[in-house]
Amino acid sequence: MNGGFRVKNIITAKNIIKVYGDKDKARVLNNVNLEVNEGDFICIMGPSGSGKSTFLNILSTVDRPTKGVVKINNQNVYGMVELRLGQLRYENIGFVFQDFNLIDSMTIRENISIPLVLASIKAKEIKEKTDEIATKLSIFDTLEKFPNECSGGQKQRAAAARALITNPKIIVADEPTGSLDTKNSHELLKIFEERNKERGTAILMVTHDAMIASYAKKLIFLRDGKIDEQLERGSLSQKEFFYKIVDITSKESQSLFDKM
Ligand code: ADP
Repeated sequence: MNGGFRVKNIITAKNIIKVYGDKDKARVLNNVNLEVNEGDFICIMGPSGSGKSTFLNILSTVDRPTKGVVKINNQNVYGMVELRLGQLRYENIGFVFQDFNLIDSMTIRENISIPLVLASIKAKEIKEKTDEIATKLSIFDTLEKFPNECSGGQKQRAAAARALITNPKIIVADEPTGSLDTKNSHELLKIFEERNKERGTAILMVTHDAMIASYAKKLIFLRDGKIDEQLERGSLSQKEFFYKIVDITSKESQSLFDKM
Protein backbone atom coordinates (compact mmCIF):
# COMPACT_ATOMS: atom_id res chain seq x y z
CA MET A 1 0.00 0.00 0.00
CA ASN A 2 1.13 3.49 -0.74
CA GLY A 3 -0.88 6.17 1.02
CA GLY A 4 -4.00 4.06 0.58
CA PHE A 5 -3.34 3.68 -3.14
CA ARG A 6 -2.48 0.21 -4.30
CA VAL A 7 -1.05 -0.20 -7.79
CA LYS A 8 -2.94 -2.90 -9.65
CA ASN A 9 -0.79 -5.26 -11.60
CA ILE A 10 -2.13 -6.24 -15.02
CA ILE A 11 0.66 -8.21 -16.70
CA THR A 12 3.79 -9.76 -15.24
CA ALA A 13 6.31 -11.42 -17.52
CA LYS A 14 9.22 -13.25 -15.89
CA ASN A 15 12.37 -14.68 -17.43
CA ILE A 16 10.89 -14.79 -20.92
CA ILE A 17 12.92 -16.76 -23.40
CA LYS A 18 11.83 -17.21 -27.00
CA VAL A 19 13.56 -19.34 -29.60
CA TYR A 20 12.01 -20.03 -32.99
CA GLY A 21 12.52 -23.46 -34.51
CA ASP A 22 15.89 -25.02 -33.77
CA LYS A 23 16.66 -24.57 -30.07
CA ASP A 24 20.35 -23.98 -30.84
CA LYS A 25 19.52 -20.84 -32.77
CA ALA A 26 20.04 -17.42 -31.21
CA ARG A 27 17.35 -16.44 -28.73
CA VAL A 28 14.92 -13.83 -30.00
CA LEU A 29 14.18 -12.98 -26.35
CA ASN A 30 16.73 -13.83 -23.71
CA ASN A 31 15.44 -13.66 -20.14
CA VAL A 32 13.28 -10.56 -20.41
CA ASN A 33 11.19 -9.29 -17.49
CA LEU A 34 8.43 -6.71 -17.45
CA GLU A 35 5.60 -5.62 -15.22
CA VAL A 36 2.67 -3.64 -16.53
CA ASN A 37 0.50 -1.92 -13.95
CA GLU A 38 -2.67 0.09 -14.12
CA GLY A 39 -1.89 3.60 -15.36
CA ASP A 40 1.30 2.57 -17.19
CA PHE A 41 1.99 3.86 -20.68
CA ILE A 42 4.91 1.85 -22.00
CA CYS A 43 6.52 2.02 -25.39
CA ILE A 44 8.79 -0.72 -26.71
CA MET A 45 11.40 0.33 -29.25
CA GLY A 46 14.45 -1.33 -30.76
CA PRO A 47 16.03 -2.18 -34.09
CA SER A 48 14.11 -4.20 -36.63
CA GLY A 49 14.22 -7.87 -35.69
CA SER A 50 15.06 -7.19 -32.04
CA GLY A 51 11.96 -9.08 -30.87
CA LYS A 52 9.52 -6.22 -30.20
CA SER A 53 6.49 -7.84 -31.82
CA THR A 54 7.40 -11.22 -30.38
CA PHE A 55 7.58 -9.70 -26.89
CA LEU A 56 4.30 -7.84 -27.35
CA ASN A 57 2.58 -11.02 -28.56
CA ILE A 58 3.90 -12.97 -25.59
CA LEU A 59 2.85 -10.27 -23.12
CA SER A 60 -0.64 -10.23 -24.61
CA THR A 61 -0.93 -14.06 -24.62
CA VAL A 62 -1.13 -14.27 -28.41
CA ASP A 63 2.16 -16.19 -28.55
CA ARG A 64 3.80 -18.52 -26.04
CA PRO A 65 7.32 -18.14 -24.71
CA THR A 66 9.74 -21.04 -25.02
CA LYS A 67 10.39 -20.56 -21.30
CA GLY A 68 9.16 -18.14 -18.68
CA VAL A 69 5.97 -17.09 -16.96
CA VAL A 70 3.25 -14.66 -18.05
CA LYS A 71 0.59 -13.66 -15.55
CA ILE A 72 -2.49 -11.59 -16.23
CA ASN A 73 -4.33 -10.38 -13.14
CA ASN A 74 -1.98 -12.66 -11.19
CA GLN A 75 -3.16 -15.73 -13.07
CA ASN A 76 -0.59 -17.86 -14.83
CA VAL A 77 -1.89 -17.87 -18.39
CA TYR A 78 -0.10 -20.91 -19.70
CA GLY A 79 -1.64 -23.32 -17.24
CA MET A 80 -5.03 -22.33 -18.60
CA VAL A 81 -7.27 -24.08 -21.12
CA GLU A 82 -7.65 -22.12 -24.37
CA LEU A 83 -11.26 -21.13 -23.71
CA ARG A 84 -10.44 -19.59 -20.33
CA LEU A 85 -7.38 -17.87 -21.79
CA GLY A 86 -9.53 -16.41 -24.58
CA GLN A 87 -11.95 -15.10 -21.97
CA LEU A 88 -9.16 -13.59 -19.87
CA ARG A 89 -7.74 -11.94 -22.99
CA TYR A 90 -11.15 -10.63 -23.98
CA GLU A 91 -11.89 -9.26 -20.51
CA ASN A 92 -8.59 -7.48 -20.11
CA ILE A 93 -6.95 -6.62 -23.43
CA GLY A 94 -7.91 -4.41 -26.36
CA PHE A 95 -5.77 -4.82 -29.49
CA VAL A 96 -4.93 -2.18 -32.11
CA PHE A 97 -2.86 -3.19 -35.14
CA GLN A 98 -1.05 -1.36 -37.91
CA ASP A 99 -3.37 -2.66 -40.64
CA PHE A 100 -6.55 -1.99 -38.60
CA ASN A 101 -7.85 -5.59 -38.94
CA LEU A 102 -11.40 -4.49 -39.73
CA ILE A 103 -13.76 -6.91 -41.45
CA ASP A 104 -14.44 -5.46 -44.91
CA SER A 105 -17.90 -7.00 -45.32
CA MET A 106 -19.16 -5.38 -42.10
CA THR A 107 -20.07 -1.75 -41.50
CA ILE A 108 -18.00 0.31 -39.10
CA ARG A 109 -20.82 -0.02 -36.57
CA GLU A 110 -20.76 -3.81 -36.88
CA ASN A 111 -16.98 -3.89 -36.64
CA ILE A 112 -16.89 -1.76 -33.50
CA SER A 113 -19.61 -3.77 -31.80
CA ILE A 114 -18.05 -7.22 -32.45
CA PRO A 115 -16.65 -7.62 -28.89
CA LEU A 116 -20.06 -6.81 -27.36
CA VAL A 117 -21.91 -9.14 -29.75
CA LEU A 118 -19.48 -11.91 -28.80
CA ALA A 119 -20.21 -11.20 -25.14
CA SER A 120 -23.99 -11.55 -25.82
CA ILE A 121 -24.76 -8.01 -24.70
CA LYS A 122 -28.33 -6.82 -25.49
CA ALA A 123 -28.81 -5.02 -28.83
CA LYS A 124 -29.99 -1.77 -27.22
CA GLU A 125 -26.92 -1.56 -25.00
CA ILE A 126 -24.65 -2.39 -27.94
CA LYS A 127 -26.15 0.46 -29.95
CA GLU A 128 -25.78 2.91 -27.06
CA LYS A 129 -22.17 1.95 -26.38
CA THR A 130 -21.22 1.97 -30.07
CA ASP A 131 -22.81 5.41 -30.57
CA GLU A 132 -21.04 6.71 -27.47
CA ILE A 133 -17.55 5.52 -28.37
CA ALA A 134 -17.96 6.53 -32.04
CA THR A 135 -19.00 10.03 -30.96
CA LYS A 136 -16.07 10.24 -28.56
CA LEU A 137 -13.65 9.23 -31.31
CA SER A 138 -15.30 11.52 -33.90
CA ILE A 139 -16.38 8.75 -36.27
CA PHE A 140 -20.13 8.79 -35.63
CA ASP A 141 -20.75 9.78 -39.28
CA THR A 142 -18.92 6.71 -40.56
CA LEU A 143 -20.92 4.16 -38.55
CA GLU A 144 -23.08 2.96 -41.42
CA LYS A 145 -20.22 2.95 -43.93
CA PHE A 146 -17.99 0.04 -44.89
CA PRO A 147 -14.24 0.17 -44.19
CA ASN A 148 -13.39 0.71 -47.89
CA GLU A 149 -15.50 3.89 -47.81
CA CYS A 150 -13.43 5.34 -44.97
CA SER A 151 -10.05 7.06 -44.74
CA GLY A 152 -7.08 5.42 -43.02
CA GLY A 153 -7.53 7.67 -40.00
CA GLN A 154 -11.22 6.79 -39.71
CA LYS A 155 -10.43 3.08 -40.01
CA GLN A 156 -7.80 3.27 -37.29
CA ARG A 157 -10.17 5.17 -35.02
CA ALA A 158 -12.79 2.47 -35.67
CA ALA A 159 -10.20 -0.14 -34.70
CA ALA A 160 -9.42 1.87 -31.56
CA ALA A 161 -13.14 2.12 -30.79
CA ARG A 162 -13.48 -1.67 -31.14
CA ALA A 163 -10.55 -2.10 -28.75
CA LEU A 164 -11.90 0.42 -26.21
CA ILE A 165 -15.59 -0.52 -26.24
CA THR A 166 -15.13 -3.29 -23.66
CA ASN A 167 -13.25 -0.95 -21.35
CA PRO A 168 -10.16 -3.17 -21.27
CA LYS A 169 -7.55 -2.82 -18.54
CA ILE A 170 -4.85 -2.60 -21.18
CA ILE A 171 -4.50 -1.56 -24.81
CA VAL A 172 -1.87 -3.45 -26.77
CA ALA A 173 -0.83 -1.73 -29.97
CA ASP A 174 1.75 -2.93 -32.51
CA GLU A 175 2.88 -0.04 -34.75
CA PRO A 176 -0.63 1.43 -34.52
CA THR A 177 0.34 4.52 -36.53
CA GLY A 178 2.29 2.63 -39.20
CA SER A 179 -0.42 3.22 -41.81
CA LEU A 180 -1.40 6.73 -40.71
CA ASP A 181 -0.26 10.22 -41.65
CA THR A 182 1.19 12.50 -38.97
CA LYS A 183 -2.07 14.24 -38.07
CA ASN A 184 -4.01 11.00 -37.66
CA SER A 185 -1.12 9.41 -35.76
CA HIS A 186 -1.19 12.16 -33.17
CA GLU A 187 -4.96 11.98 -32.92
CA LEU A 188 -4.80 8.26 -32.20
CA LEU A 189 -2.13 8.77 -29.55
CA LYS A 190 -4.22 11.49 -27.94
CA ILE A 191 -7.08 8.99 -27.67
CA PHE A 192 -4.75 6.53 -25.94
CA GLU A 193 -3.35 9.27 -23.71
CA GLU A 194 -6.81 10.40 -22.66
CA ARG A 195 -7.91 6.85 -21.75
CA ASN A 196 -4.69 6.38 -19.84
CA LYS A 197 -5.21 9.59 -17.87
CA GLU A 198 -8.96 9.34 -17.33
CA ARG A 199 -9.38 5.65 -16.59
CA GLY A 200 -5.89 4.41 -15.82
CA THR A 201 -6.04 2.11 -18.87
CA ALA A 202 -2.53 0.77 -19.37
CA ILE A 203 -1.05 1.22 -22.84
CA LEU A 204 1.62 -1.08 -24.21
CA MET A 205 2.81 -0.06 -27.64
CA VAL A 206 5.51 -0.87 -30.17
CA THR A 207 6.63 1.90 -32.49
CA HIS A 208 9.74 2.94 -34.36
CA ASP A 209 8.66 6.58 -34.34
CA ALA A 210 10.26 8.69 -31.58
CA MET A 211 7.51 11.29 -31.83
CA ILE A 212 4.84 8.67 -31.20
CA ALA A 213 6.93 7.09 -28.42
CA SER A 214 7.11 10.47 -26.68
CA TYR A 215 3.47 10.08 -25.60
CA ALA A 216 4.52 7.20 -23.33
CA LYS A 217 5.57 7.49 -19.70
CA LYS A 218 8.21 4.82 -20.02
CA LEU A 219 10.41 3.62 -22.85
CA ILE A 220 11.90 0.16 -23.11
CA PHE A 221 14.62 -0.35 -25.65
CA LEU A 222 15.16 -3.94 -26.81
CA ARG A 223 18.45 -4.99 -28.31
CA ASP A 224 19.84 -8.48 -28.95
CA GLY A 225 16.95 -10.13 -27.14
CA LYS A 226 17.33 -8.10 -23.95
CA ILE A 227 16.03 -4.89 -22.45
CA ASP A 228 19.04 -2.74 -23.17
CA GLU A 229 17.76 0.57 -21.81
CA GLN A 230 14.76 1.84 -19.88
CA LEU A 231 13.78 5.46 -19.71
CA GLU A 232 11.13 7.01 -17.48
CA ARG A 233 9.54 10.24 -18.62
CA GLY A 234 9.08 11.42 -15.02
CA SER A 235 8.58 15.16 -14.92
CA LEU A 236 9.98 15.74 -18.43
CA SER A 237 7.75 17.48 -20.93
CA GLN A 238 6.77 15.47 -23.98
CA LYS A 239 9.27 17.45 -26.04
CA GLU A 240 12.13 16.84 -23.61
CA PHE A 241 11.25 13.14 -23.52
CA PHE A 242 11.18 13.10 -27.33
CA TYR A 243 14.76 14.44 -27.44
CA LYS A 244 15.91 11.75 -25.01
CA ILE A 245 14.29 9.08 -27.15
CA VAL A 246 15.92 10.50 -30.27
CA ASP A 247 19.28 10.29 -28.44
CA ILE A 248 18.79 6.59 -27.78
CA THR A 249 17.54 5.77 -31.27
CA SER A 250 20.27 7.79 -32.95
CA LYS A 251 22.91 5.88 -30.96
CA GLU A 252 21.47 2.83 -32.69
CA SER A 253 21.88 4.41 -36.12
CA GLN A 254 25.43 5.53 -35.26
CA SER A 255 26.38 1.99 -34.29
CA LEU A 256 25.09 0.81 -37.68
CA PHE A 257 27.49 3.29 -39.35
CA ASP A 258 30.33 1.96 -37.20
CA LYS A 259 29.65 -1.56 -38.53
CA MET A 260 29.76 -0.41 -42.19
P1 ADP B 1 10.70 -6.78 -34.37
O1 ADP B 1 9.25 -6.64 -34.03
O2 ADP B 1 11.62 -6.15 -33.35
O3 ADP B 1 11.06 -6.33 -35.75
P2 ADP B 1 10.13 -9.62 -34.33
O4 ADP B 1 9.64 -9.89 -32.97
O5 ADP B 1 9.11 -9.49 -35.41
O6 ADP B 1 11.08 -8.33 -34.31
O7 ADP B 1 11.15 -10.75 -34.77
C1 ADP B 1 12.32 -11.05 -34.02
C2 ADP B 1 13.09 -12.17 -34.70
O8 ADP B 1 12.32 -13.36 -34.65
C3 ADP B 1 13.38 -11.90 -36.17
O9 ADP B 1 14.68 -12.37 -36.45
C4 ADP B 1 12.34 -12.71 -36.88
O10 ADP B 1 12.81 -13.14 -38.13
C5 ADP B 1 12.13 -13.88 -35.95
N1 ADP B 1 10.75 -14.41 -36.02
C6 ADP B 1 9.64 -13.73 -35.71
N2 ADP B 1 8.53 -14.50 -35.86
C7 ADP B 1 8.99 -15.72 -36.29
C8 ADP B 1 8.36 -16.95 -36.63
N3 ADP B 1 7.03 -17.12 -36.53
N4 ADP B 1 9.15 -17.98 -37.02
C9 ADP B 1 10.49 -17.83 -37.08
N5 ADP B 1 11.15 -16.70 -36.76
C10 ADP B 1 10.42 -15.66 -36.39
